[in-house]
Amino acid sequence: DQIILDVRNLRVEFHTEQGIARAVDQVDFKLKKGRILGIAGESGCGKSVTALSIMRLLPKPVSRIVQGKAMFNGVDIFNLSINDMHHIRGKKIAMIFQEPMTALNPVHGIGKQIIEIYKLHFSEFSSYEMTTAAVTMLEKVGIPDPDKVMKKYPHQLSGGMRQRVMIAMALACEPQILIADEPTTALDVTVQAQILDLIKEFQKKSGMSVILITHDLGVIAENCDDVVVMYAGRIAEKATVTTLFKRPVHPYTKGLLTSIPSLSRKAKTILPTIKGNVQSVLNLPEGCRFAPRCPLAADICRKMIPRERRMDKNHTAACHLADI
Ligand code: SF4
Ligand code: MG
Repeated sequence: DQIILDVRNLRVEFHTEQGIARAVDQVDFKLKKGRILGIAGESGCGKSVTALSIMRLLPKPVSRIVQGKAMFNGVDIFNLSINDMHHIRGKKIAMIFQEPMTALNPVHGIGKQIIEIYKLHFSEFSSYEMTTAAVTMLEKVGIPDPDKVMKKYPHQLSGGMRQRVMIAMALACEPQILIADEPTTALDVTVQAQILDLIKEFQKKSGMSVILITHDLGVIAENCDDVVVMYAGRIAEKATVTTLFKRPVHPYTKGLLTSIPSLSRKAKTILPTIKGNVQSVLNLPEGCRFAPRCPLAADICRKMIPRERRMDKNHTAACHLADI
């Protein structure tokens, strides 16, 4: 399989009043061409920080990438100049967020906002071409009456329609990678399924690769090919979705899966919430970060950081005691 994005040994630090928090540490994963990779974990586990790192959109000056590479088409994204990054962000790698209201500009019409993207990346288009392309995009994401919607403002649309507009904007330049960070969390269940189906449909048609970030394991099971499970800023386990749900080896993954009654029942499968967010990454245990909650924790776990170990082809776990 061709690798489109290779994130290696990513470490991100946040400067807080209480000190430096290592919000993401030793994060390694590969996104394959034409596949949907899920990143799963509780809120504050570093999923969004990982995504924002790839987009080079980490909040400044409080956070920064202190180590690692993100290889995309042979270049390290983390080494690109701000100018070069402008050619990638939104064009080659696009991102959609949980709450489209925060990403859309409230004072501009929908049409203007989509056209803005074409102006930025395809300045050779005539304004007629840009308008036509924007309308076509809205049509493609299933928005009825696209001509009318072009003239509307974000607050005049429902949450589901706003997320469709965000997807239209994200896909306007036919990116090679779409990063979707909790794209359906703010939406009701039926709309959630429609939005995920829309993303999958585009993925299949265009062959783009997708990183789907979610705290909902049901969403992973139904939509992803591969999965990365994160815990407190590190990767706990990585596998194909089939393997992870059939043969999880990390105690954290196992715990998550047993706390879900049935994945096939399409029940809402929100991960149990732990207290704290990025700040909680301040007072971490020295060895395995899961040790305080792990039923198997042994002496070695509290002393040594577990390295990723290979369980099988395409399956790794960072646990001293995971059995193969
Ligand atoms: Fe549990 Fe130890 Fe494995 Fe960490 S390394 S998950 S504490 S058994
Ligand atoms: Mg998040």
